[in-house]
Amino acid sequence: DWLVIEERKRVLLANPRGYCAGVDRAVLTVEEALKLYGAPIYVRKQIVHNKHVVATLERRGAIFVEENDEVPEGATVIFSAHGVAPEVHDQAKARRLKAIDATCPLVTKVHQEAKRFAADDYDILLIGHEGHEEVVGTAGEAPAHIQLVDGPEGADKVTVRDPAKVVWLSQTTLSVDETLETVDRLKQRLPLLQSPPSDDICYATQNRQQVVKQIAPDCDVLLVVGSRNSSNSVRLVEVALDAGARASYLVDYANEIDDAWLAGATTVGVTSGASVPEDLVSELLDHLVERGFEDVSEVTTVDERLAFSLPQELKRDMKAAA
Ligand code: SF4
Repeated sequence: DWLVIEERKRVLLANPRGYCAGVDRAVLTVEEALKLYGAPIYVRKQIVHNKHVVATLERRGAIFVEENDEVPEGATVIFSAHGVAPEVHDQAKARRLKAIDATCPLVTKVHQEAKRFAADDYDILLIGHEGHEEVVGTAGEAPAHIQLVDGPEGADKVTVRDPAKVVWLSQTTLSVDETLETVDRLKQRLPLLQSPPSDDICYATQNRQQVVKQIAPDCDVLLVVGSRNSSNSVRLVEVALDAGARASYLVDYANEIDDAWLAGATTVGVTSGASVPEDLVSELLDHLVERGFEDVSEVTTVDERLAFSLPQELKRDMKAAA
């Protein structure tokens, strides 16, 4: 008689995953502002790049707009976690808006670097994705000094005034490996290129990529919970494929999973982007249990403990109201 051994279906759950300190703070900023000032509260751009988070806050009374001129004069506006150019603050002042800045402190750090190198008259090569809100905000700090470099191919188009006075900075949510490749390519042409004083790619982006790299080789398919416009979530799919996952997909919700993706799979990896609430991951795990993936093991590479306090301007009002 043949002994049939059916391989156990299992899930490898990445940790760290989901909310980072900057997203947590930005979402809490909108929630606390709604409590304190009452609805509606205006938010310029999606507070974080997640469909579900935006829809949930909309139900509670947040109104998302693209630009300050859509906000009634004198109203409260919150700037998103991705940061804004200085002119956005100026526009808010001109409209007498009460602005609360939920820019992640790790994005603000890159803005400060840009300002400092621009003041020293450096050419700044900002590695990032064309059109992404964070890049638009950072470039706005010193438009005359900053050129965007979008991926390794972008490196060949760069021209600088003085090759001895050039520095690269980056968007916080890029692929670590692709960024190193871009920097290598830039250095072939600009050997004196300086690096940022500290990592611009943030801890959360790096940690989520690191654990995906670890589990990917064992995964028949690796599912990333996240939205299409979330840079760090999209990067996780790329990192998974590069690191050896046989397939990888990005979904906002569990019901977007096509059963064909799971056909024949025994190991499914699961992670989520930095803007994704844990509820959505739980729903996805339930969905997998219903399809026989009951054995879930969490793979942890690092313990994250960072937390940021709420924006000063909000804390002041909360204190006054208490
Ligand atoms: Fe801040 Fe990084 Fe989170 Fe972006 S992904 S909000 S830079 S901690």
